[in-house]
Amino acid sequence: MEEIDRGIRAMQALQRLVQQGGLKNLGLVKKEMDELISPEFEPYFLANAALHLLAVCERCGRCCLEEKGIAVSIDDCRRIARHQGLSLKRFMKDCTRPHELKGDLVGSARMLGKKEGEPCPFFDSSLPGCRIYSVKPQVCTAALYLSKMNLLTCEEQQKIDTFPICSADEKLRARIADFALRLDENPADRGELVRLFASNRPEVELFRLFLRLKGMEIYFGPERAALLARRLGLARVPDDREVKSAAFLYALSFYPRIVKHIN
Ligand code: SF4
Ligand code: SF4
Repeated sequence: MEEIDRGIRAMQALQRLVQQGGLKNLGLVKKEMDELISPEFEPYFLANAALHLLAVCERCGRCCLEEKGIAVSIDDCRRIARHQGLSLKRFMKDCTRPHELKGDLVGSARMLGKKEGEPCPFFDSSLPGCRIYSVKPQVCTAALYLSKMNLLTCEEQQKIDTFPICSADEKLRARIADFALRLDENPADRGELVRLFASNRPEVELFRLFLRLKGMEIYFGPERAALLARRLGLARVPDDREVKSAAFLYALSFYPRIVKHIN
């Protein structure tokens, strides 16, 4: 199938980002990544990163209107305060409230001052969408798929659920379902895909590492991902375009449950 061949070619092409002498500090970087996202979440983290890379947000604003609360880290608060020309203290006081959850899980995170049933205070329907788009909270960049709450739910329920409010998610799952149907009609191709990701082919191993790096970029921001890439001796973090076709195969092959949950 053309899509499978394209995905494999994309994985092989990633080798060009590895500088002469191969990967460096692999064990140390993996350990650092494990500390950032605990290994038990890794399969869900990778699959959600793949979905995130593939979904095309339509800026419909439904999540800005319908999500119960928007969590913000202290880094988010600093960035948005700067953008708004406010001191951090003023921003925290005027625009945020304590996080709904307590304890280690949320650390110093707070919530934007959004009340249930009301739009996010930064939502502007005339734009459309977000008034602080360039500095929006990480959870909005990692829209839905990679939020901490979603990872917890995935791990708990052992599945990757759909987000019924999100038209981008709906379209992506439909695309995956459509491809899965074609694979059902071509058992040889389905087998090839399953064997590919069950193998330890060097291009697959490298892709898995790069997908994790992309997840780190989405979840923790580009600076953190660039730092990890430098430690690995990579030329740079791959851009979205370079990993998308392989990410599609990954989401499909490892997570048939993504498809099963489409009604
Ligand atoms: S900060 Fe922006 S993207 Fe995030 S919920 Fe508010 S309006 Fe939407
Ligand atoms: S609901 Fe989905 S498509 Fe709409 S703004 Fe949110 S992430 Fe984008």
